[in-house]
Amino acid sequence: MLKDLFIGLSQNQLLNSAAKKYGLKLGAQSVVAGTNIEETIKTIKELNAHGISCTVDNLGEFVYKEEEATAAKNQILEVIQAIHENGVNAHISLKPSQLGLDIDYEFCLGNLKGIVEKANEYNIFINFDMEDHNRLDPSFKLLDELSKQYVNIGTVIQAYFFRAQEDLEKYKNYRLRIVKGAYKETEEYAYQDKKDIDENFIKLIEWHLLNGKFTSIATHDHVIINHVKQFVKEHAIPTDKFEFQMLYGFRKDMQLQLASEGYNFCTYVPFGDDWYGYFMRRLAERPQNLNLVVKQVFTK
Ligand code: FAD
Repeated sequence: MLKDLFIGLSQNQLLNSAAKKYGLKLGAQSVVAGTNIEETIKTIKELNAHGISCTVDNLGEFVYKEEEATAAKNQILEVIQAIHENGVNAHISLKPSQLGLDIDYEFCLGNLKGIVEKANEYNIFINFDMEDHNRLDPSFKLLDELSKQYVNIGTVIQAYFFRAQEDLEKYKNYRLRIVKGAYKETEEYAYQDKKDIDENFIKLIEWHLLNGKFTSIATHDHVIINHVKQFVKEHAIPTDKFEFQMLYGFRKDMQLQLASEGYNFCTYVPFGDDWYGYFMRRLAERPQNLNLVVKQVFTK
């Protein structure tokens, strides 16, 4: 299956390092905002001008060396500073594995603490993106630990996991992003059928809209978006209790449309030279995205 092929490619460390050397190629420039902070701030300003807020992801995967995790931390601190100095409407999304979760838990906690503390000074929110099943419990543990001191943090609930409802209820007082789930998970832990995942996704969104603090509904699926629009209307859920989120470069017309209809809208803006794994996961989700690649190759 194409999905498995692209997920496999996303985990290939050799190709990952090669991609870093050769810049934004293979069409990745359509879905990655740029390779540096300056380009990214420019993109954020453009989106803000359309009433769209941003969550910025400094791309990074396969971090097994302390110096790489420290470099990622420093880069995220620079992004926080740039968001503050430019007065743009943006916050941060990060992956615990990029900050050293696979190296040492305490080391990762220290890195995250530095980031959350700095962001807290500027009142900037930090979202802990959720990765594969093995990293789920340690990531929640990091969140638990840091929330003893800080409130500017939240995370993601992945609807394909059987345990998602339980996690949702436990973390209902956090700002939560709800997604279908992007990694390849086994049937021991996760729904495998699209229909089951979609059903659970809707159930979780509805539950959190009614019981939770703030819900980010992160999907490109117009059927689900239309369902949510109807649901919030029927239940008189105020627009300041939720937002829609999509990835940069996807369904641009719909992003603008939702923002112009008065919904809070946030675009996930990835940037940096470590774009390869992110890009391959997007191809796994939607092989039609290969069109992006073909177009870029032929329009150079
Ligand atoms: P899909 O199930 O991929 O698509 C459903 C339908 O929507 C398609 O059949 C098609 O009709 C339509 N559609 C979808 N995309 C397009 C398109 N580009 N153009 C036209 N029609 C389209 N996953 C994680 O595991 N952890 C995270 O932390 C995480 N964060 C995310 C943050 C954001 C902002 C977003 C948007 C996604 C995130 N994801 C994350 C990925 C998520 O889990 C899904 O893998 C991804 O969003 C694909 O699912 P979908 O809901 O967009 O719809």
